[in-house]
Amino acid sequence: MDYRAVLEEVAATARSAAGVGRVAEYIPALAAADPTAFGFAVADLGGQGGVDGVGDWEAPFSIQSVSKVFTLALVLAADGEGLWARVGKEPSGSPFNSLAQLERDRGVPRNPFVNAGALVVTDRLQDLTGDASSALRDFLRAESGDPRVDFDRGIAASELRHGHRNAALAHLLADHDRLANRVRTVLHHYYLQCSITMNCRTLALAARFLARHGLRADGTRLLTRSEAKRVNAVMLVGGTYDEAGEFAHRVGLPAKSGVGGGILAVVPGRCTLCAWGPALDPHGNSTAALAALDAFTTLTGWSVF
Ligand code: GLN
Repeated sequence: MDYRAVLEEVAATARSAAGVGRVAEYIPALAAADPTAFGFAVADLGGQGGVDGVGDWEAPFSIQSVSKVFTLALVLAADGEGLWARVGKEPSGSPFNSLAQLERDRGVPRNPFVNAGALVVTDRLQDLTGDASSALRDFLRAESGDPRVDFDRGIAASELRHGHRNAALAHLLADHDRLANRVRTVLHHYYLQCSITMNCRTLALAARFLARHGLRADGTRLLTRSEAKRVNAVMLVGGTYDEAGEFAHRVGLPAKSGVGGGILAVVPGRCTLCAWGPALDPHGNSTAALAALDAFTTLTGWSVF
């Protein structure tokens, strides 16, 4: 498929939203991002898997919570479905870093994409691999085909210094006996995973196993068909936090956002998409990326509905 005309129209629509909202100032190292930047990539399945893009689609950004979909996949791949005893699969309807919800739910996070849920997933990945953040980085390098994918240790350190809320979530989990590793170990790997720097091109490529029903770039199987379906389902209900309903309404695809401004989306059986713009709406989702994905599914008619 020749995406050129679609990409140009997506970019034109999204550029009017680029800059609307605020960059993630609560992580000081992210506050310097240009709020008007915008990029979009589409990665096809099959063969060499063509990838095309528009705007700043090869500009690096911090993947932040987009990482959570990959750590979830790695834990399910290594450990099967046992994780669901520790983490829910319901929409949160609350901010992604809510302490009140975690306390009400006695330390069982609503889903693997709110911060508390991701901390539990990282804790499990640490048990399974002995080095959760490196396992994630190596997986992303392999799937994207880009060996330069790496941590930004400055961003990780900045979050560690200012991340009182995440530390509180981790301590609350530990207080409910929900972590196997020490709080500081879990936070260390969590911040490194969030700090990984990629671009629209490499993120779209790395996520193709979700569109390929669990098959990795080299043709081997990471997830069963059923597990891949479940990851996509949880993305649909929780990947954009307390805006998941609005997102499903406008875009109609499984997706995962991050406060670096990236949103990754999956068209099962067909392609993956990654949109990026650093300015965020009050839910922590990129305004330009949301507008771009909305335009893409409206123009192509591709959604899961
Ligand atoms: N590192 C960020 C945090 O923990 C990730 C949040 C996000 O991208 N939604 O707050």
